[in-house]
Formats: sequence, C-alpha cells, structure tokens
Amino acid sequence: MEPYPPLETILQRYAFTDFRWLDPADLVVAEWVRMKCRFGCPHYGRAAACPPNTPEVEACRRFFAEYARGLIVHFEVPPLSDEARHAWSARTNRTLVDLERDVFLAGYPRAFALFTDACHLCETCVPERTACREPASARPSATGMAVDVFGTARRLGYAIDVLTEPAAPANYFAFLMVD
Ligand code: SF4
Repeated sequence: MEPYPPLETILQRYAFTDFRWLDPADLVVAEWVRMKCRFGCPHYGRAAACPPNTPEVEACRRFFAEYARGLIVHFEVPPLSDEARHAWSARTNRTLVDLERDVFLAGYPRAFALFTDACHLCETCVPERTACREPASARPSATGMAVDVFGTARRLGYAIDVLTEPAAPANYFAFLMVD
C-alpha cells in the first residue's frame, strides 16, 4: 500500500521507524491462531484483553473487513529476561495507545491499536474484562484477534522465521487499524 503522509509525521514522533501501510485484506485471520491461544498460552482465561475476552474468530474477520487502511510496526528485540520483556511490552504497548489517540485526534475516529503481545500495562492482570484496571487503554494483541502474525508479516514483506536459537533477537509486530 502507498505511503500515507498525513499520518507519517505522527509516526515520526514515536520513533516507530520500521512500519508499513497495509490493506486489511492482507491480514491473515485463522482459527488455528485461536486454538493456539486456547491450548498453549498461559494468558488464556487469565488476562482481560486476551481470549476468551476477545471476539470469536468470525467477528474478528468482520472487524478487520470494516477497515480500508492499517499499519504494521516491526520491533526487533534482543533476548531479555521475562521481567525485562514484560517491561518492554508495557512501555511499547502504552506508546501504541498514545499513537492511537493521536491518530484519532488527527481525524480518524476508528483508530484502534493491536498490541505486540498480551497487554502487560499492569504488573498483574485479571481474568475478567469487566475487572480490567485500565479499561480505556487495554487493547488485544493481533494474535488475540486471531491474526496469524507470521503469515501476515511475511505477506507484507518481512522475512521472519520461528526462532530456534535463544540468543537470537525476537521479532514483534504491532498493528494500528486506521480508517
Ligand atoms: S490494563 Fe491491566 S488489567 Fe487490563 S488487560 Fe491490561 S494488564 Fe490486564
């Protein structure tokens, strides 16, 4: 998708330098992603912005189909302890909320961020959506919205693979649905 200068000055404020515009039709949404949340993820049923607190897969598809433009942001993160990764996620996800707000105020009322991973805005999370400590800021991750992040990133030109070396930097992706 073509560059979109009206919003690129906002992105520069946040030092999100590695990003690409996307057609939401390029988002790969799949049932297997939800299955991996249900079986294998420690956040399932324990986090207010993760499944089963996110919509069913078909509803996720319908949500993305309402948009004509979005953004993928790539982060390369060196190996970190669990605690440091949690802190990185909290900082990055909070910045994404600020970005979403600025894009909203720039005239895009449907702006909606998808976090890099589980919310992590608080030290500990809660299982019920209604008990969320920061309901205005918490957002689901792309994975929590049934997006196959590997397949989507590859489709958008990012060469990523499953990490097999613990010392290798990890690739994280956030998304912003714009209009
Ligand atoms: S804001 Fe806090 S309570 Fe709400 S989903 Fe995020 S980490 Fe959990």
